[in-house]
Amino acid sequence: MVTVVPSATRKITSVNPATGEVLAEFEPATEQQVRAAVARAQTAQAGWKEIGVERRARILGNFQRRLREKKSEVARIITRETGKPLAEALVAEVLVVLDAARFSCEHAFRFLREEALPHDNWAMKTKSGRILREPYGVIGIISPWNYPLSIPATETLAALVTGNAVVLKPSELTSCTALVLGDLVCEAGVPRDVFQVLIGDRITGSALLHSPIDKLVFTGSLATGKQIAQVAASRLLPLVLELGGKDPMLVLADADVEVASSGAVWGAFTNAGQACLSVERCYVDRKLYQPFLAACVEKTRRLRVGNGEAPAIDVGPLIGERQLEIVESQVEDAVARGARVLVGGSRLKKVGSNFYAPTILADVTHQMRVMREETFGPVLPVMPFDSEGEAVRLANDSEYGLGASIWTRSRRRGEQLARQIQAGTVMVNDALSSFGIAEAPHGGMRMSGVGRTHGRFGLEEMVRIKYVDTDRMPGRKKVWWYRYGERFPQQMEALIDLMFAGGMGERLRGARKVAGVLESKERL
Ligand code: NAD
Repeated sequence: MVTVVPSATRKITSVNPATGEVLAEFEPATEQQVRAAVARAQTAQAGWKEIGVERRARILGNFQRRLREKKSEVARIITRETGKPLAEALVAEVLVVLDAARFSCEHAFRFLREEALPHDNWAMKTKSGRILREPYGVIGIISPWNYPLSIPATETLAALVTGNAVVLKPSELTSCTALVLGDLVCEAGVPRDVFQVLIGDRITGSALLHSPIDKLVFTGSLATGKQIAQVAASRLLPLVLELGGKDPMLVLADADVEVASSGAVWGAFTNAGQACLSVERCYVDRKLYQPFLAACVEKTRRLRVGNGEAPAIDVGPLIGERQLEIVESQVEDAVARGARVLVGGSRLKKVGSNFYAPTILADVTHQMRVMREETFGPVLPVMPFDSEGEAVRLANDSEYGLGASIWTRSRRRGEQLARQIQAGTVMVNDALSSFGIAEAPHGGMRMSGVGRTHGRFGLEEMVRIKYVDTDRMPGRKKVWWYRYGERFPQQMEALIDLMFAGGMGERLRGARKVAGVLESKERL
């Protein structure tokens, strides 16, 4: 467990990373407050489940309407707290959440409907089975700062519509956005105790993890994810882990260089590279390597870097010093091992203390940290390959497996190659945007995590499966109950032959031996 420092000595400060302006200060929730919030959520959840999916969907529809009405205000708060361009706050946050709300409202009713379970086992023909999907109870959500609205909101919507209560512990860097989400959800008609936002840091997150929640949906770094998984394992707490990535981009020989280079620049630098699905490493067929690099460099030079609140800004600041140091040290390591900086490669102190120039690296190798560790900054390392086999091998040479992209004029080739890439999502001729498709499952393999958010699979994570089985002949004792008697094993061998023997003759012999079992067997 994380060492607990009394909350009075800790402050949660929300800062605009573009300007350094302090936006707000908060007291973190104490361990007792976390436990009390979870207890209130447990009590309130029963009523929320009881009102039924149609009413819950109507209430979340209200949330969707309110968010649309307040879209500009919400986007501005996100931009002030993260520095990202206003356009990105609208497209990758507000729009994504509106569409997730649409999906939840439209699909939850059908998703939660009881499902009849037909079966073919002859011995069980008197039974009728049904699958029920029931809410877990209280879902804890711990979220990061890079998409402070879209990540917690999409997870919250899926949890709420399926009948759970939610306790959200947002990133300590983006508390203002989380509180806006809390207000919008509650103003829409979700009871206060059914959706609670607890401001705090890792200590608060740890308190939530140790509280009696029924499931945890965690989005954040691999290092934290591993710590959380260890604690969760000790009490078998169900988990979804959405962790880091090192997404490869493969540019095949038949790709359109003009299109792929624009995709690479956007995919690597959107949100200043601080996206779990960012293009983190790029592999280009050697025939296109030079023209591709030249196009990427030229387009990167034209990007406008600055405060995301200013008009027409393309790339904002990094979230803070810790992130800058990671980026800086990976670029330094790459250069020391022989990489060439084609553009960028340093801080932009004149723009502000958290800005780093969009950077393109050539002559990179897999010995460099920039090709192995998550960078989470505006760096695009580009490496040539000589065959598609080599490209796939390089793409899969990573401990992560979140997303990947393949760029080609041949849809068939792209989709074929996608099957060989070890990742939760592979996009052909685009990157990142799968996150904006409400129906598309989001999540990774290997060190990128377990479980899924978004779409039908995101809803599945929010429910427990219960199998209800009813015998249609309640007045009859079952043949497999006591007493077994002496002849029963042979009769069961005959039943097995009747059901599974390869030839018709053997099956008929089995049938003859079985006949009469039901009537003649002694039952206690
Ligand atoms: P982080 O792991 O530092 O923090 C994430 C959250 O966990 C924060 O709310 C933090 O307060 C909390 N936390 C930290 N330590 C904790 C502990 N011991 N117990 C409980 N809670 C704890 O990550 P970050 O820097 O906020 O986010 C960036 C990371 O998130 C990157 O690695 C990125 O790839 C990843 N990410 C993944 C996805 C995805 O969907 N796979 C999406 C966005 C970000």
